[in-house]
Amino acid sequence: MALLVQKYGGSSVAGSERIIEVARRIVSATEEGHRVVVVVSAMGDTTDKLIKLANQITKEPDPRELDLLLSTGEIVSCTLLAMALRGLGSEAISLSGAQAGIHTDDTFSSARIESVDAQRILAELERGRIVIVAGFQGTTTDMETTTLGRGGSDTTAVALAAALKAQRCEIYTDVPGVFTADPKIVPQARKLKDLGFEEMLELASYGASVLHPRAVELGAVYNIPILVASSFSNEEGTLIHGGEPMEIKNKLSGVAYDLDVAKITILGIPDRPGIATSLFEPLAQAGISVDTIVQNASVEKVTDLTFTVSRHALAEAQKIVTPVAESLGSKGLVADADLGKVSIIGIGMQNAPGYAARMFRTLYSAGINIEMITTSDIRITCLVTKSKVKEAVQALHHAFYIEETEG
Ligand code: ASP
Ligand code: MG
Repeated sequence: MALLVQKYGGSSVAGSERIIEVARRIVSATEEGHRVVVVVSAMGDTTDKLIKLANQITKEPDPRELDLLLSTGEIVSCTLLAMALRGLGSEAISLSGAQAGIHTDDTFSSARIESVDAQRILAELERGRIVIVAGFQGTTTDMETTTLGRGGSDTTAVALAAALKAQRCEIYTDVPGVFTADPKIVPQARKLKDLGFEEMLELASYGASVLHPRAVELGAVYNIPILVASSFSNEEGTLIHGGEPMEIKNKLSGVAYDLDVAKITILGIPDRPGIATSLFEPLAQAGISVDTIVQNASVEKVTDLTFTVSRHALAEAQKIVTPVAESLGSKGLVADADLGKVSIIGIGMQNAPGYAARMFRTLYSAGINIEMITTSDIRITCLVTKSKVKEAVQALHHAFYIEETEG
């Protein structure tokens, strides 16, 4: 008898019929002999609506109040799902994040899970109950309710799977798995049968929104296989796991994109020790996460420094950096709010040359200018103008998946 953790996303539980359908799916998993712990997201776009409501009351909602407000979305869906399961004759109980023993740090709106005390869940399972846990939330040592960041229910699910030593974590969503590119912009994109944690982490971090990056990280650390599949069909999903993926690895696992990139370039600053610290420390203190950083080779001890942040953080980043740049004697500051990034990802590129050249040639042939380039062992990312991102994804997918199989 295996213990499974299943997570159902917002669209899977968007209305009462969907909740009853999900309850049926859970019942059939128990009928196959599995013990099941379920994590749910808030119904449909509830979280967006709650944020909007808060913003109608005040421009800057208090973080503590906002987290307590947002946590209610998942309370609604988990209680209704428990009722639906009881309606089908199953023993079920819903638990809030706190009741489920999910302890976090006290960073409101992006709290990290510090520990899971699984006693209550284990006791309920022992009584033969299906346990439904409200995703996306936890509690601090002061019993404050926190949320884990948008999409955080995935992380709740994998953290519970790790704490309960579940056989695997199943993430049910409205797409049938992880694709070689976003099927909405690349209709020829192919569903992957499986892929490794490392590749999935790069995909998730560089724009593929099917999984919360933290969830993938936890899956990798605790070696919990994660299945991504649809709750709207019985199609086989994508399995993310440790070890070697089964698919032939001379290809990429995927092309990812992100439309939310802004960059700031500080022109003509003196190239001496401590400059980067004085620029980036105040940004870190303000909680602004800086992504790509590029410092030019200096000419006569003067250099340019460019970094990227997400668009909503641009104004504040500029406000923080401008006086520092001035005090360092910089020649000025330019910002560009309309960038995006495209990435190719695959462990196959680790030992094979030519991926970068092919990527750059493809973008050049499509008339797309590259603004910045960053890489990891298994990823190459190009920053391009936002309006060209989709075209870039299509061209790259074509070059690496279609031309390659044809020729
Ligand atoms: N309901 C939260 C959100 O919309 C968490 C989640 O869905 O995972 O971001
Ligand atoms: Mg979601």
